[in-house]
Amino acid sequence: MPLPPICTTFEPYFLLSDERLQDIVNHFRKEMEEGLAGYGKDVAMVPSFVTGVPDGTEEGTFLALDLGGTNLRVCEVRLFGQHKFEIKQQKYKVSDELKEGEARILFDYIADSVDAFLTEIGSDISSNEPMHLGFTFSFPVEQTAIDAGKLLTWTKGFNAKHAIGNDVVKLLQDAFDRKHIHVRCSALVNDTVGTLLSRSYQSGPALIGAIFGTGTNGAYIDKTRTVQKLGEDKIKQAEAGGEHAGQFMVVNTEWGAFDNGRHCLPVSIFDNKLDRESINPRKQAFEKMVSGMYLGEITRNILLHLIDSSVLFNGYSSKTINTHYGYDAAFVSAVEGAKSPEEVKKLIISQLGVKAEHIGEGDVEIVQWAIRVVAIRASKLAACAIAAVVQHTGNDKVPKDEEDKGVDVGVDGSVAEFLPNFSERVSEALAVLLGKEGGKRIRMGLAKDGSGVGAALTALQAKKAMDKRT
Ligand code: BGC
Ligand code: MG
Repeated sequence: MPLPPICTTFEPYFLLSDERLQDIVNHFRKEMEEGLAGYGKDVAMVPSFVTGVPDGTEEGTFLALDLGGTNLRVCEVRLFGQHKFEIKQQKYKVSDELKEGEARILFDYIADSVDAFLTEIGSDISSNEPMHLGFTFSFPVEQTAIDAGKLLTWTKGFNAKHAIGNDVVKLLQDAFDRKHIHVRCSALVNDTVGTLLSRSYQSGPALIGAIFGTGTNGAYIDKTRTVQKLGEDKIKQAEAGGEHAGQFMVVNTEWGAFDNGRHCLPVSIFDNKLDRESINPRKQAFEKMVSGMYLGEITRNILLHLIDSSVLFNGYSSKTINTHYGYDAAFVSAVEGAKSPEEVKKLIISQLGVKAEHIGEGDVEIVQWAIRVVAIRASKLAACAIAAVVQHTGNDKVPKDEEDKGVDVGVDGSVAEFLPNFSERVSEALAVLLGKEGGKRIRMGLAKDGSGVGAALTALQAKKAMDKRT
């Protein structure tokens, strides 16, 4: 059966033309440049103060905390050198009450989780020295040092009070100190920065670390000088502290906030509904089209509209479809991965709770269509972000005098890992944006556990810098 015309009228918002993608990349580059030049921009371009990338020889044992994904994770990471590591970890649930309550209670809970971990799982490292901990805090932070940064805004369903504007390392360290937990938070790391470092540790130098998970974001390596807003003094200081002669710094783009001003993203009525019903309206515009937290919800809005227009399920709905965030990206992945229409029909019944007798001829195809267009848009937009960074750093050009090693991108997150066809579609769009040859030079690979290993590597770098000073 052909799709009802109402579906095709929405396709321009999802099946973006090549010109549209180019336009988005151009805008992306512009917003990145603005973020490097000044504070308070949508794409925040946060300096990480990480000035060296690991080469795989690093050694030591560190604690790592990971807040900002589905769970809170506490890890003990052993770096053995030779690109090898071992992780012991424990996940702790962060309830909605904690996410939306007082920040102090949230940080007390985090400190208690570290304490529980050390008692139950962590190695018995008896020493007078406190354990060094790398804190992967995956929210926009205006970082002022490797171990300091103020929370700019919450994302991904977090909304704890009295945190914005405060130094999150201090919030954590105070909680440790209140409880006499012998741990020192020596590094503050975004998960994308962690992913970049972890990828480099494991498989050689990477240019970009990207997360396509609950939220989305990317970090990359730039010349410290390019981060003009740091000012001359800080630039010099950072350059002097760097381990490599090139004087580079990892920059956390915070690209999830790209185009909050709505200049070029394809905002449909379904995106507008999602945004106004969210706890952070007019924020994270790009993230709301790309990341796992929202993919289910966009498709739910589409299905609702089609139901209300009487072209789907004979106008009937279900409790799940009527519920805000009633289902998540796992449904999107399941439908994208389904082998047959019958399998999709079963998913519609079991996951969405639609009654079999309400599923008419052509309905399964309509659901598949809605899921597919949303997934396609997410992957094409993801490619735009990567292409913008590749172009910004001049890596779209094949080097003339040296061997072409290509461009390595470490990725992590549930969308990258579980959404079928995601990386293929990203690669396809990269070929459009960077040319066939250019696209082929981009190597994307999963860097799982980036937050844990990356936090440990950053704690190591911070500790080295500290030892050097004393
Ligand atoms: C946050 C980023 C983070 C990304 C992926 C976004 O919502 O703002 O800091 O890197 O999610 O976890
Ligand atoms: Mg994560």
